[in-house]
Amino acid sequence: MAEDHFRISGTTRLTGLLGSPVSHSFSPLIQNEAFRLLGIDCRYLCFAADEAHLPAAVQGLVALQAAGWNCTMPDKYRMAELCEELDPEAALMQSVNTVKNDGGHLIGYSTDGAGFLRSLRSAGGNPAGARMTVLGAGGAARAIVARAALEGMECIHVFNRRGAHFTQMEELMRRLSKKSTCRLILSDFGSFEALRDSISQSNILANATSVGMGVQSEACLIPDRSFLRPGLIVSDIIYHPLQTKLLRLAAQAGCTAVNGIPMLVGQGAESFRIWTGQEMPVGPVSALLEEEIRRRG
Ligand code: NAP
Repeated sequence: MAEDHFRISGTTRLTGLLGSPVSHSFSPLIQNEAFRLLGIDCRYLCFAADEAHLPAAVQGLVALQAAGWNCTMPDKYRMAELCEELDPEAALMQSVNTVKNDGGHLIGYSTDGAGFLRSLRSAGGNPAGARMTVLGAGGAARAIVARAALEGMECIHVFNRRGAHFTQMEELMRRLSKKSTCRLILSDFGSFEALRDSISQSNILANATSVGMGVQSEACLIPDRSFLRPGLIVSDIIYHPLQTKLLRLAAQAGCTAVNGIPMLVGQGAESFRIWTGQEMPVGPVSALLEEEIRRRG
């Protein structure tokens, strides 16, 4: 039935991804499968547009009446400047990964944080009143911290090496402290004891660094499983490989272990909802995504 509705027609609308590079992205698979399953007359394509061509690419998409689009780093900051309106979370971070084209009026959103919260809830976690330790202060970590604080977490303790990301997290925490009552702490990886202490007081441990990803798959910022305990939710937002060393340690320690798939699909589901007003069927989309990640090896 859905197949009948999935022919490209004279009314098919466009969504897509802007950035450079974009060829590795799983978003076309996620979004097109959701359009197909729900019989929505829309397609998602990848457009390699470097920073210099971003304004022209956006102008082109507006002229073509695209429903909306995503963008990747490093374009998320520039995209925020190109939007006429930002939702409060995107405004807080001055970073946009999803744009809705409302008849030429561009509204910018940031959906990574909401994707993480969807993933947390699907693992049985409740952000309200929770305490979380976050490894990392890059773009994904900042989105997670912003959304989690706005959703009522009691305390978030972030660990990162000192440098540009550390400073950007410090600035975000300063802005967030005016909007939320969450206790926000930022430390470097100076001592393992501070990390152990923070995890022991947390309900959730999130790895938002790239440590454990791809060729670094045997790397892990947690020295051993004595840092973990049953009942702790351990979320590694890496999705390739599907099981990182951190997640193996978490499973051995009796924690609830969650990989990056529910967040990746969750952030896409938020974009999908913004463009179509409909809920993405996340179960079958996640299954297809896992199959594709296994196939790519
Ligand atoms: P990013 O902005 O470049 O941040 C990278 C982070 O990793 C920084 O905090 C960086 O710390 C840290 N890091 C890298 N190597 C490290 C090392 N050897 N030791 C300690 N920290 C290290 O990247 P991002 O966009 O935030 O992405 C981070 C990870 O999340 C990637 O693996 C990405 O694939 C994944 N991700 C997943 C989703 C999802 O939906 N599941 C969404 C977005 C991102 P320094 O500041 O010290 O360099």
